Amino acid sequence: MSIFTNHMDIALDEARAAGQRGEVPVGAVILSRDGQVIAQAGNETRAQNDPIAHAEILAIRAACSALGRERLQGFDLYVTLEPCAMCAAAIAAARIGRVYYGASDPKSGGVAQGARVFDHAQSHHKPEVYDGISAKECENLLKDFFAAKR
Ligand SMILES: [Zn+2]
Repeated sequence: MSIFTNHMDIALDEARAAGQRGEVPVGAVILSRDGQVIAQAGNETRAQNDPIAHAEILAIRAACSALGRERLQGFDLYVTLEPCAMCAAAIAAARIGRVYYGASDPKSGGVAQGARVFDHAQSHHKPEVYDGISAKECENLLKDFFAAKR
């Protein structure tokens, strides 16, 4: 029997830090199967002037770089928001084992809605997906951020 440990708190910390930098508050963390943190990141599209600098992409790059490998088989990714189609494709390319996400994203989500990347026959890899992890906290962070923008 395995005991589920929720590592979303680390992703939430990254999301909060991103929000404080004026980025959309989304955070991600990648862990090895034994629960060791390999990489964590928040959105940096504004800081890097880079439309693809999503938290998941940055975390995948950092983890692969730290480990000196191009794939992350068996690794876990926690992200505060449902990955978009681009990030879902990157997750499949990295062969990440399990994806845990918080808030669902009716606007840009690409996992449970929209492109549903992992459900395509062309998706080379389908991770296990667990949604709704600390969902309220993840949602509120985004809501507060966009409310403050108005
Ligand atoms: Zn994305």
